[in-house]
Amino acid sequence: MTETLFCYCCRVHHPKDQMRRFPTRQGERWRCLRSIEAAAGQRLERDAFGRHQTAINRAASKRAAEKALHLSRALLRTG
Ligand SMILES: [Zn+2]
Repeated sequence: MTETLFCYCCRVHHPKDQMRRFPTRQGERWRCLRSIEAAAGQRLERDAFGRHQTAINRAASKRAAEKALHLSRALLRTG
């Protein structure tokens, strides 16, 4: 019979060879590799999304700055 350990993430038992000790605020708990990898994958996706948003924000503020510059130049020309 395969030895199983309780996975705190899935709240079910998995075979021991799929389990890794995982540090939590409550101390080390057993967690399966699949859930650890899934969480890591989600974090990478979030990071990529965050970087994308930062690039959008940067482009938007650059456009706003350029617009303000054109506007002030136009005002100087007319004034
Ligand atoms: Zn699990």
